[in-house]
Amino acid sequence: MTKKIGLETTCVHVGEVKDEQFKGAVSPIYMSTSYQFDDVDVKRYPRYFNTPNQESLSKKIAAIEHAEAGMVFGSGMAAISTTLLAFLKVGDHIVVQNTLYGGTSNFIREEFPKYGIEFTFTDGYEISDFESAIQDNTKVIYIETPSNPLLTITDIKGVSDLAKQKGILSIIDNTFASPVNQNPIDFGIDIVVHSATKYLGGHSDILAGAVACSKEHMDTIWNVGKNLGGNLSDFMVWMLERSMKTLVLRVEAQNKNAKKLAKFLNAHSDIKNVYYPGLKSHPQYRLAKSQMRGFGGMLSFELNDELDALKFQKELKLIKPAMSLAGVESTMLSPYLTSHALLTQEERDSIGVTNGLIRFSVGIESKKDLIKDIEQAIKAVKK
Ligand SMILES: *Cc1c(COP(=O)(O)O)cnc(C)c1O
Repeated sequence: MTKKIGLETTCVHVGEVKDEQFKGAVSPIYMSTSYQFDDVDVKRYPRYFNTPNQESLSKKIAAIEHAEAGMVFGSGMAAISTTLLAFLKVGDHIVVQNTLYGGTSNFIREEFPKYGIEFTFTDGYEISDFESAIQDNTKVIYIETPSNPLLTITDIKGVSDLAKQKGILSIIDNTFASPVNQNPIDFGIDIVVHSATKYLGGHSDILAGAVACSKEHMDTIWNVGKNLGGNLSDFMVWMLERSMKTLVLRVEAQNKNAKKLAKFLNAHSDIKNVYYPGLKSHPQYRLAKSQMRGFGGMLSFELNDELDALKFQKELKLIKPAMSLAGVESTMLSPYLTSHALLTQEERDSIGVTNGLIRFSVGIESKKDLIKDIEQAIKAVKK
């Protein structure tokens, strides 16, 4: 862990590569895939996650998640798959919650049977849901909060306490909250994973992943990581370091906008439901408040039944209909057409993903312009 400095300072300065040669203000990029061999302990190679840029950015990742060690990957899925395969082997069992990022859910369902790893998906709203899914061979509990796309909240402290009591490793996907709003390690979680493609990158131009945990757990992950080869290129590492300098500014602006937009939508007579953990009407508002400093930039909502959600999205002029999320630009999409398209109608209904549900990734634009765009789109749909 780094010395006590502010999060904003950490984002700007921790993990800079010093430019010893020219004294430039920003980190130089070292693109070498080959380094002089002079010490058996320091074999630098990009796939070993230890080039100057990789090593330095790892320190920033560790610092912002209050962890001893960090590691940066080529994608969120590279970080997640490597971490899970580092701690699970044939005959082991993992407990995960139902509302997981689709890619993680697919990875578990499609790949784990090939490795002989058992898994149980559980509702995960109550700690007892996790507890009753635990078996003698359970090695990992994996959670994601707030979840996608309904922004349900899982009790981080409750899960980590349960895991500790049973001697099970706890892992959380902290992508939606970002380390600005939530630090799961402070609640006792063992390992934090991120799709850095989202808030850490924040400009919709970097695909990356990250992990933060103890040095001991990181050694285990590193050993598997170098075999699987999911490292991030040094150029992208540099891009990510640069992007993370403004992480706090961006996420705080997104928190503020999202809260205002959630309130606006909630009060709107053409909107049926709004899902945002920062609304007092969210069923887990108090739990969210107890583990989050801010409520994030993601929300979802449903128009009244007579209004066509797809037409509404087509009428938007400022807000982009786009797949990914967490960029500085606002985007919206229908989960039923994208992230949840492969589920049956019945499966979607059972987890509350209706055809009218719209996921809204709130950007940093002027609140007034976002509201105006939504208003004009609703008006156009009603015509
Ligand atoms: C996008 C996302 C991932 C996967 O990340 P990639 O960078 O696309 O591999 C994992 N978890 C969550 C919550 C995500 O939103």
